[in-house]
Amino acid sequence: MSNNHYGKCALCRQYAKLSFEHIPPEAAFNSTPAKPVRGDKLFSKGERMPWDVSGLRYENLQQGMGRYSLCEPCNNKTGSWYGNDYISIAHIIHHFFAKKPFSNPTGVEIREIYPLRFIKQVVSMFCSINSNIDTVMCELRDFVLNKDKVGIDKNKYKICMYFTESNFVKYAPLSVLAKFDDSGSEAIAVSEITAYPLGFILYFDPTDSYKYDGVDITSFADYGYDCSATIQLPFIVKEMNDIFPAHFRSREEIEKCVEENKKWAEDNIGE
Ligand SMILES: [Zn+2]
Repeated sequence: MSNNHYGKCALCRQYAKLSFEHIPPEAAFNSTPAKPVRGDKLFSKGERMPWDVSGLRYENLQQGMGRYSLCEPCNNKTGSWYGNDYISIAHIIHHFFAKKPFSNPTGVEIREIYPLRFIKQVVSMFCSINSNIDTVMCELRDFVLNKDKVGIDKNKYKICMYFTESNFVKYAPLSVLAKFDDSGSEAIAVSEITAYPLGFILYFDPTDSYKYDGVDITSFADYGYDCSATIQLPFIVKEMNDIFPAHFRSREEIEKCVEENKKWAEDNIGE
């Protein structure tokens, strides 16, 4: 792969030589060679289940998963300001998963962490995967670039987190998600990043009526940069088997759905 990647930095918006940004940070279980497969390739063959990537062409990222998204100064700054806090929490959750069966399966306590630093790392990752989007990401870029800036506008953004044991890495840039339930349907704009053992959904213009997945961590943004805290979180675990944002079907559910679609096609579409 060529080392000359030029473009607009996902944070400062300067045109510059872009450096490789690990998403998530390298020490958060993202240092081994990764073989990401693009979503469109997954769906190019009808019989393939979404998690079956065998035989598909992939980009070989020897250094782990990430993007050439940040200029060198932004990459270094955000890495040193926020990276370690993300890494610590990823390791705490990894150990929590390793301790099965869980003594307290409903909750997890994360001691002495810096919530603001952690959420700024998360937001920085969302900036990287949404580098071609301008207006709606502006405020989030400022939040990341200004180390001491506190607070995210909760009328515009909601960030939810969940835990996952799946090894399925997902970067889902901004897209619109429609949710259907008994009371009707509602559409919302989302972006999602999943990388073992954590997953995040960034919701845009959140409404009160929407049923959000994961635990809302937007208030992590209200802590000061040097303010540490012990945080109790519900242990919300999601299974990850496909590339759609905020889509947590089990393999059995997907298989059932594929079978039903096939049957419907056989019954309704003549040979
Ligand atoms: Zn930059």
